[in-house]
Amino acid sequence: TEKDLHCMGCGVVLQTENPNEIGYTPKSALEKEVVICQRCFRVKHYNEIQDVSLTDDDFLKILNGIGQTDGLIVKVVDIFDFNGSWLPGLHRFVGHNNVLLVGNKADLLPKSVKHSKVINWMKKSAKDLGLKPMDVFLMSAHKGQGIKEIAEAIEHYRFGKDVYVVGCTNVGKSTFINAIIKEVSGEKDVITTSQYPGTTLDMIDIPLDNGASLYDTPGIINHHQMAHYVDKRDLKLISPKKEIKPKIYQLNEEQTLYFGGLARLDYISGGRRSFTCYISNEINIHRTKLEKADELYRNQVGELLQPPRKNQLDEFPELVAHEFAIKHAKTDIVFSGLGWVTLNEPGAKIVAHAPKGVGVFIRESLI
Ligand code: GDP
Repeated sequence: TEKDLHCMGCGVVLQTENPNEIGYTPKSALEKEVVICQRCFRVKHYNEIQDVSLTDDDFLKILNGIGQTDGLIVKVVDIFDFNGSWLPGLHRFVGHNNVLLVGNKADLLPKSVKHSKVINWMKKSAKDLGLKPMDVFLMSAHKGQGIKEIAEAIEHYRFGKDVYVVGCTNVGKSTFINAIIKEVSGEKDVITTSQYPGTTLDMIDIPLDNGASLYDTPGIINHHQMAHYVDKRDLKLISPKKEIKPKIYQLNEEQTLYFGGLARLDYISGGRRSFTCYISNEINIHRTKLEKADELYRNQVGELLQPPRKNQLDEFPELVAHEFAIKHAKTDIVFSGLGWVTLNEPGAKIVAHAPKGVGVFIRESLI
């Protein structure tokens, strides 16, 4: 039988019969040297995404297979959304394989953040989450920073075996694989990348020199990511492309900050103090009195407070309150996928609001 042709963009099996099913490509496109499916074609040329009908179960099935094999697992996370992009069930399909943990999007960190500190924090967080990687790295797949070092570590730790790159959608896995391919072969942009979650659909097999392969596995959709709750057009706003410029607010007790309409921080008590916000430069921060905050949201969400967009309010989850008593100096309040706010002094009471399903937590400050 003829071997299935796979899309070079997302790895899905190509078909020419049904334009509404995944993997469709016109017959004429099959003659091209690099064949991609229509969906990848649209992402690439029109920056437009089509929804696909793969379920979480399909993704998990593919990933479970990895546990049965013998190879090196490279787990990619978005350091700007570490917990939001963590794969909570990873240990279930890791099996006995070695893991390298790679934090992506280091270019977004303000210059004042020391990389060694972020790496230490990643090591500690991984341990707390039950994963023991062989080594931890920081990179910017986008800028090609750290790629060479990671390529060398992969070669060192794979002991001639296959390599599986895993990560949830939007962590920059495809960008990373492209960068790795470029590093080892000089080819450019073989795989589809987009700012829309969920572009990689099936395993992509990239041959390594000794007959082993590097596999790009499908991104797992992690529903705790803020990215799933904003309009596709607003993803640009929350996933910044440039270094984040911190914004400092001096707040009195009973004042509130809104981050667009996506999140909210109420300062309850603890005296006048400063709040340093590390949030995408494109998101407007709006200050108001706590007593007026609810009313402001009712009247202005989708208007003054956006994203979300007005036409999207029906699907946008309600904001849920999370209470924190800040006991330690230099604490970050992290809104998964959006950013964080640093408090320098202990002794504050905070209520942080995020869309239902999106994580909010505190950690020792990265800075
Ligand atoms: P995947 O779903 O994990 O395969 O992610 P993609 O490679 O498609 O990237 C998702 C989004 O993150 C795109 O908007 C990329 O441009 C962006 N991205 C990827 N790598 C980086 C990086 O190193 N820095 C920044 N700032 N953005 C990145």
